[in-house]
Amino acid sequence: MFDKEYDVIVVGGGHAGSEAAAAAANMGSKTLLVTMNLQNIAQMSCNPAMGGIAKGQIVREIDALGGYSGIVSDTSAIQFKMLNKSKGPAMWSPRVQSDRMRFAEDWRLMLEQTPNLDFYQEMVSGILSENGKVTGVKTFLGLEIKAKSVVLTNGTFLNGLIHIGEKNFGGGRSGERAATGITADLLNLGFESGRMKTGTPPRVDGRSLDFSKMVEQPGDDVPAKFSYLDVTKPLKEQRSCHMTYTSPEVHNLLKEGFDRSPMFNGRIESVGPRYCPSIEDKINRFADKDRHQLFVEPEGWKTVEYYVNGFSTSLPEDVQYKALKSVAGFENVKFFRPGYAIEYDYFPPTQLQHTLETKLVEGLYFAGQINGTTGYEEAACQGLMAGINAALKVQEREEFVLSRDEAYIGVLIDDLITKGTEEPYRMFTSRAEYRTLLRQDNADFRLTEKSYKLGLASQKRMVRMESKKDSSDAFVSFFRETSVNPEEINPILEANNSATVKQSGKMFKVFARPNISMDDMRKIDSVEKYIQEHQFDHEVLEQTEIQVKYSGYIEKEKNNADKLHRLENLKIPSDFDYMKLQSMSMEAREKLNKIQPKTVSQASRVSGVSPADISVLLVFMGR
Ligand code: FAD
Repeated sequence: MFDKEYDVIVVGGGHAGSEAAAAAANMGSKTLLVTMNLQNIAQMSCNPAMGGIAKGQIVREIDALGGYSGIVSDTSAIQFKMLNKSKGPAMWSPRVQSDRMRFAEDWRLMLEQTPNLDFYQEMVSGILSENGKVTGVKTFLGLEIKAKSVVLTNGTFLNGLIHIGEKNFGGGRSGERAATGITADLLNLGFESGRMKTGTPPRVDGRSLDFSKMVEQPGDDVPAKFSYLDVTKPLKEQRSCHMTYTSPEVHNLLKEGFDRSPMFNGRIESVGPRYCPSIEDKINRFADKDRHQLFVEPEGWKTVEYYVNGFSTSLPEDVQYKALKSVAGFENVKFFRPGYAIEYDYFPPTQLQHTLETKLVEGLYFAGQINGTTGYEEAACQGLMAGINAALKVQEREEFVLSRDEAYIGVLIDDLITKGTEEPYRMFTSRAEYRTLLRQDNADFRLTEKSYKLGLASQKRMVRMESKKDSSDAFVSFFRETSVNPEEINPILEANNSATVKQSGKMFKVFARPNISMDDMRKIDSVEKYIQEHQFDHEVLEQTEIQVKYSGYIEKEKNNADKLHRLENLKIPSDFDYMKLQSMSMEAREKLNKIQPKTVSQASRVSGVSPADISVLLVFMGR
């Protein structure tokens, strides 16, 4: 039925599991994906959208590394928006509205075309291990499947408990059962677990909505895309979202159900995502606000189903319905599915190494929501990294870790491992110290070569990246080396309210001014001629403009990152006993003993460790 022994078994076919399976298999490892329902591969449990602020950067990084999330986001997109375009390029964040059904189908078809990948639909109910080393998994039906490494990506399914008003029942997601057995097995192996919760809004029938009472939210006039590869072209047609608001009347109707709310009557005790609060939470926490924004998002090209973004709730379904009917445009609303909340087990991620391998059991990796994160993008990138490292381990190759100045993925994993998380962790640009370096436009420059060396990113990706890099470097040099005279540049400067110049000077200097754009520079004959001669595309022009305009900031962040690397190179011996450092605070000693950071830099980021504690450590290490 199965191969005698797999290199890698991936448990769970969500966003993390799908990326993990694709990465391991593409790196030549004999891989098995075991998931509870093969129909629901890469199912979007909540909103039909990929990307957004900081999350869009992650999808670009996954794509640059050769993962599939960017490609599938493009093939299933119904709308594209570059968020934060009015801010600097470090903040630009791509986001698509997705066709939910097509997203899952495209993922499944891409996985089916991946060599070395087998599939099996069943619930994994336990982990097999010997002498602290994983040896495989056992299933609910009693099968034992052997593997050298196992990646667990169980999402919200471990002992999942769904709440709608006063009713609660076991489930991993609406309409799907919970997964049992794994938590108990892991606790027996010595792991610690916790409980978190998340929630989702009702889905409604678009035919019952009056969109004329809402504000249309179209996509970008010139849409871009996620993947650096040309698997699809940018969208020619798009579907709009719509915006409407709650009102004091809606809030009063919701409040009538608070005594039956599992959030308020003590049934749900676990912590939910702070930045994706339920509507009842918002009314409670921001009592002075008399309205909250709702985005009404189509679930696909053809379906009439709509997602009511901003109205996540676990109130009884009759309360949800009555309140939503009072929202402008929803007077005749018909429900497809009520909103609900779900509680599930997670495993504090401080139990992991930076490769996402567990410290307790060799060859066992955790990725995605099981690590206390929330969001498809956060899950997918962990899956990719766990899949890569599981394959590398089996192939007895060096581990693959990204640092905080190389990728948002590096920031995310480092945060999880060194700080842990008490509430569902989502990515923000503010979590990254080096966000001018970690832009969505340059993820390919940062990561593709690394992945190519691993044997994951294809030759085609590598060639495309090199050509874009060579072209933009050459164009930046052109601006550094070519002069422009006052007669040619001054009309452009005047038109943009920028001070004129008296003498000829290098183009770079004027182009670096804040109010001068590439479009302005193209009015200079020699610039336009250079572009036409070299047939530069939009990506090269954008890259060159960013390199010129932000060169100062980029240089400064690179210098800061170099300082970090000097600390990163100071390795701490494994199993170091911090208790012997008497002058270090007790809190720091306890935390560092538990987390066992590998470098002084990592130690400095552990919560509760102060600069004074790090000085003690440095003195001990003879620095
Ligand atoms: P999942 O996507 O949950 O996938 C887990 C997969 O593992 C499933 O395919 C499941 O069948 C399989 N599986 C589980 N256990 C087993 C087993 N023992 N054997 C075999 N297969 C198994 N994110 C946000 O960013 N914002 C939100 O507002 C938000 N709201 C959410 C609301 C709800 C109700 C839910 C369910 C999720 C929500 N999410 C939200 C989270 C988002 O869906 C997840 O972060 C993301 O899907 C996690 O990906 P994952 O791969 O870790 O797990």
